[in-house]
Amino acid sequence: MWLWYLLIFIFGTIIGSFLNVLIIRYNTGKSLAGRSGCLACGRQLTALDLVPILSYLSLKGRCRECQSHISLQYPIVEVLTGLLFVLTVWRFFPNFNLIAFYWLIMALVVIIGAYDWRHQIIPTGPMYILIALSLIWAVANGGAYLLAGLGSFAFFAFLWAVSGGRWMGFGDAKLGLALGWLLGPVATLSALALAFWSGALVGIGLMVASRLKRLWWGSKLITIKSELPFAPFMILGLLMVLFFSWHVIPF
Ligand SMILES: [Zn+2]
Repeated sequence: MWLWYLLIFIFGTIIGSFLNVLIIRYNTGKSLAGRSGCLACGRQLTALDLVPILSYLSLKGRCRECQSHISLQYPIVEVLTGLLFVLTVWRFFPNFNLIAFYWLIMALVVIIGAYDWRHQIIPTGPMYILIALSLIWAVANGGAYLLAGLGSFAFFAFLWAVSGGRWMGFGDAKLGLALGWLLGPVATLSALALAFWSGALVGIGLMVASRLKRLWWGSKLITIKSELPFAPFMILGLLMVLFFSWHVIPF
């Protein structure tokens, strides 16, 4: 079994390296075909540079040509996708339909989370695919799932409207819709509770760090919203509930 998990992890990292290309090129007008290159000097990557994780390690995170830093996003997304693919199999084996379904969901949340982290905006294309898949899931699971999605959407849309988009983006409301449709009412509450707790924890941590930094080095203060996208925390909540049945409400 361990050998299988290792093979699935490697398969996941290969998918992850494709997701990196999508995350980097989405909305840049560049086609998805064609070799990737160094973002600084444009040096094209050779076949050897395309091996997930190992190529990053062997290059020690720098371009072979111009020595500029290669974004940590590459190895992080690769490892993360590998782990999520393994977790999916661990959780849903031997239901191969569910494994295939959730591999797709994992690929989409990796794109959405990483893109939001990078650009503070949720990419619409992948988001609509995620919403469509979640809707299929909700319809198959009945009315309570449909209501959970609509309720969670309404909650985030309300926060978005009353704050003029300062607390939440409208993209967060769309993600809330998908999350509710995927998880159903009880699990959605747990996932959202975890999202708010972890988001608040990281936000407070960043504020404290920033104040200390200002005290010691006189650098500018950062505010929570300008620095902290919420989608990655919602995705964390989704994953914790999905894989580990982590529940804040004991029923
Ligand atoms: Zn370079």
